[in-house]
Amino acid sequence: MGEKTNKRSWFSCPKCGQKICQFSSGAKVHELYIKCKKCHNEVEVKIEAANRDVIK
Ligand SMILES: [Zn+2]
Repeated sequence: MGEKTNKRSWFSCPKCGQKICQFSSGAKVHELYIKCKKCHNEVEVKIEAANRDVIK
């Protein structure tokens, strides 16, 4: 009991692979833009809770 079921995954920059942000398995993200620290590419973060996979 008290065990966390929310698994966290990393969203990585599609250009350089730098880890940008963490999200849990129940996350739903749309129209979020984060600038990559490494290559300064502006990454659009899209996460669908249903398939739990990062849209590439
Ligand atoms: Zn990058």
